[in-house]
Amino acid sequence: MNATDKKPHVVILGGNFAGLGSAQKIRQYAGDAIQITVIDRKDYLLFVPNIPADVFENRNPAMHQRMELRDVLAHDQINFIQAEVNAIDVDSEMVHITPNERPGAAAVTLSYDYLVVALGNRLAFEDIEGFAEFGDSVSDLYLGEQLRQKLHFGGYKGGPIAIGSARFHQGDGAKGLEPYPSGSIPDALAACEGPPVEVMMAAAHYLAETKQGDPSKITVFTPAELIAEDAGETVVKQLLDLATQMGFNYLNNTQDIKRITQDGIEFADGRSVEAELKIIFPDWKAHEFMRGLPISDSEGFVVTDLLMRNPKYKNVFAAGDAAAVTMPKLGAIGHQECEIVGLQIAKDLGRLSPEQADKPLQPVVYCIGDMGGGKAFYIRSNTWFGGDEAVLKMGHVPYMLKMQYRTLFMHNKGKVPSWGLDFAEMAVEHHIPK
Ligand SMILES: Cc1cc2nc3c(=O)[nH]c(=O)nc-3n(C[C@H](O)[C@H](O)[C@H](O)COP(=O)(O)OP(=O)(O)OC[C@H]3O[C@@H](n4cnc5c(N)ncnc54)[C@H](O)[C@@H]3O)c2cc1C
Repeated sequence: MNATDKKPHVVILGGNFAGLGSAQKIRQYAGDAIQITVIDRKDYLLFVPNIPADVFENRNPAMHQRMELRDVLAHDQINFIQAEVNAIDVDSEMVHITPNERPGAAAVTLSYDYLVVALGNRLAFEDIEGFAEFGDSVSDLYLGEQLRQKLHFGGYKGGPIAIGSARFHQGDGAKGLEPYPSGSIPDALAACEGPPVEVMMAAAHYLAETKQGDPSKITVFTPAELIAEDAGETVVKQLLDLATQMGFNYLNNTQDIKRITQDGIEFADGRSVEAELKIIFPDWKAHEFMRGLPISDSEGFVVTDLLMRNPKYKNVFAAGDAAAVTMPKLGAIGHQECEIVGLQIAKDLGRLSPEQADKPLQPVVYCIGDMGGGKAFYIRSNTWFGGDEAVLKMGHVPYMLKMQYRTLFMHNKGKVPSWGLDFAEMAVEHHIPK
């Protein structure tokens, strides 16, 4: 046993945005007082938000949207284990994993003093009848590349396009939380609808550029009353007015996707839409082994307070999409939560005072979506949670910020400087007229 083994040990499950961010923030605030291990089944970070732009701008996302994790973590003396997480036992403070670099590895049990669950969710395309044969999406490298091939290499014949979400099943784990005075974490029928809005705009640009049609060929749909309702009513109304002027078709209250066929989509409310391309965002479901745990809510999302700590198991934290409080399932909210996790663990280790560390989550929806043609929309809003800020801007500056954010993230190995968001706000909000 070496000296570092005697330090408290934090095990972080998941190494994408929330896992990497939590590890780096814990190291930043707790310094060398803690031993950190990150576990993920893959040894790279997948930069999901920029896959849609790659698809529509004809770049293979596999070549652009990965960042190797091992060197990045080693730089901060963070251990990495490439393994499948099989189970968590919060009573005995153990996680059960199977190293997965080569098949046949023996299962291993790992003990922790602190646990951070940052395992994201299962994007349940498998639950949608007909998706495998007739559906498309932009949520990972495989699906992104499949759609890029169709759009740019002759698969798509110029027919109607439908874009939208299946129904999300939110658990009860964030009930009663009040992030802003008299506010709440509301229930949503879709997990994350910035991407469908982004894809609808980018698809319209693609149709125009390739002379295959205009937005009237595109139907965007939502299971909810309002698409992207988490951006707040003012912002969504502006977006919908614009979409109507541009000629998009809009279907709300579809309830869910019943099935996808070669000819289109059938919805749970009995309606249907004809479409050659069906670009789908599925239900975001908790991983099966998370269901029924004493830290999980009715749907398997991890219950936390606004300091990202489980109320019953005080040494268990969650960040990112895996946390019940993360609504919508947005990387930008996960980013805010990683900061909190880092501060809390540093407080527990005596490195920070409660005054320095106790900064409860006040979620802000930050969303920059590609619109094609070098333009993007920018949303900064907290009204859905009870705040009073709602900004929507569009133009070339948000597009530049979206692309540069990725570059900065990769260049700084995930450590986005604290002035990044201030700079974005200043560049977009004070320099683009209403
Ligand atoms: C198309 C699209 C566009 C998006 N655009 C934006 C955007 O512009 N802005 C924004 O803020 N958000 C955006 N999002 C949402 C954003 O991608 C997610 O909120 C973010 O990825 C969540 O990060 P996370 O680390 O919590 O989870 P994930 O990114 O899902 O990472 C979870 C990690 O856990 C690992 N893992 C899971 N299960 C296991 C297991 N059993 N064993 C081992 N490892 C496991 C996975 O390999 C993965 O690395 C977008 C999402 C999509 C689908």
